[in-house]
Amino acid sequence: MTSAAISPTAVAELRAALRGPVVVPGDPTYDEVAPVHNAAITTRPQAIARCVDAADVMAAVTFARGLDGVDVAVRGGGHNGAGLGASDGLVIDLGLISGIRIDPAARLAYVGGGATVADLDHAAGAFGLATPAGIIGTTGIGGLTLGGGHGHLSRKYGLTIDNLVAADVVLADASFLTTDAGREPDLFWALRGGGGNFGIVTEFVLRLHPVGVVAAGPTLYPIERTEEILQWYRELLPILPREMGAFFATMSVPPADPFPAELHLKKVCGVAWCWAGESGGADEHLAEARAMNPLLDGVAEMPYPVWNSAFDALYGPGDQWYWRGDFLRDIPDEAVAVHDEYSRRLPTWKSTMHLYSIDGAVHDVGPDETAWAYRDATYSEVIAGVDPDPVSLPALRDWCVSYWEAQHPYSAGGGYVNFMMNEGQDRVRATYGSHYDRLAVIKAMYDPNNFFHVNQNIEPDRSITLPGPRVSAAQRQGAGR
Ligand SMILES: Cc1cc2nc3c(=O)[nH]c(=O)nc-3n(C[C@H](O)[C@H](O)[C@H](O)COP(=O)(O)OP(=O)(O)OC[C@H]3O[C@@H](n4cnc5c(N)ncnc54)[C@H](O)[C@@H]3O)c2cc1C
Repeated sequence: MTSAAISPTAVAELRAALRGPVVVPGDPTYDEVAPVHNAAITTRPQAIARCVDAADVMAAVTFARGLDGVDVAVRGGGHNGAGLGASDGLVIDLGLISGIRIDPAARLAYVGGGATVADLDHAAGAFGLATPAGIIGTTGIGGLTLGGGHGHLSRKYGLTIDNLVAADVVLADASFLTTDAGREPDLFWALRGGGGNFGIVTEFVLRLHPVGVVAAGPTLYPIERTEEILQWYRELLPILPREMGAFFATMSVPPADPFPAELHLKKVCGVAWCWAGESGGADEHLAEARAMNPLLDGVAEMPYPVWNSAFDALYGPGDQWYWRGDFLRDIPDEAVAVHDEYSRRLPTWKSTMHLYSIDGAVHDVGPDETAWAYRDATYSEVIAGVDPDPVSLPALRDWCVSYWEAQHPYSAGGGYVNFMMNEGQDRVRATYGSHYDRLAVIKAMYDPNNFFHVNQNIEPDRSITLPGPRVSAAQRQGAGR
């Protein structure tokens, strides 16, 4: 343990200050609420402040500021692969702040900072509305959005941050503000990709779009055809309309319904499709995929929330995860050969490699409009070793790291902050690229003492002077924090 002890007296003070429960080891709910999604993360907090509103979050931050040497983690959905929603000190847990209000006329969702993707899909889906977010329902909107957020609808509607209209934030000094394009614009810029570095978002306001029934599902091919299918996918993607979400994957067929028994556990490659256009419009764009003799054509019409939770049972809590990612601008034949080699060696049946397409509407946003630094990339790649058995962890890590190292020379340099383990400061810098310095300046304004450091950390830097009126305006505003 690296954190100093939190005394029983301090816990009693925290309990008195919060309306939500404070859970400590030995409490009946501790074993249920302490773990994060990745079971390989065994760090357990001394206290979990289960906040129910912004007032609780302000009280928890005030309390935490009075502690010496105690790591404070902020938890949204607890899905972060590196375990950034965990610490051995205090966890400020937003999971109970999961309420969502939809304004269907304005097409806006007011989303609690601890809500999940499934919460949002459920609330917005009732109105035939949705916004791009992750492909697994249990993922937290909090960490996902602050890191960028991509999913089935991103080709049509961009990243989750491209749909962020405003955010309520509790800062490191426990004060509260609302930020949007006009209010605290530098903070608003930094929140859109800069992760949990700048404050605790208690509410996200997200723009919604009409999304009702989609034509979605996979077309799957034998793993031995990875080279051929990936080369075909690479050529197809630029000519697919934005209405068609399409990510490439290598995986094993899950041993469960609705997959045919003869395919169970068979290693495959393929594309997961999501047509969010006119009903019946998908078929012409799927014609080639279908003509290539797939082992399985699982594309069918269904409500969007059904497709966006289709992988939930496969990747429930309790599995060991080790993953790494990279952004790719293109996939040269040499990289295709790497994918071919490592996909044949998937170490366990839950292990997988996904290439999420981040083109289309993601490219409509300028490279410097948000903190997200790779608008010119075409793919966000994740290589994930996954298995329920802790004994598998070294093999998952070895496969993942050697796969990642083999393909990295063909990457754009950095990777998606939400697909990183604790890979060191150089990797964080590579991920933010030319935006890192501006983020470090904004960090110094809003969190000068690096209170929020259990994250892919951007270190505050007061020594950098950046040109541009917006930064200096915020610098003035932040003075004295
Ligand atoms: C099975 C699985 C599938 C995934 N699929 C996708 C996908 O399709 N698309 C995609 O973009 N990503 C995906 N991800 C990655 C996901 O975006 C990250 O793991 C993300 O960090 C999860 O957010 P969380 O709130 O659940 O995480 P947590 O572990 O709770 O938090 C992660 C980080 O965000 C911070 N944070 C969380 N909420 C807040 C908040 N409200 N205010 C301030 N800081 C906060 C935390 O402090 C921490 O640093 C997936 C992850 C998993 C495990």
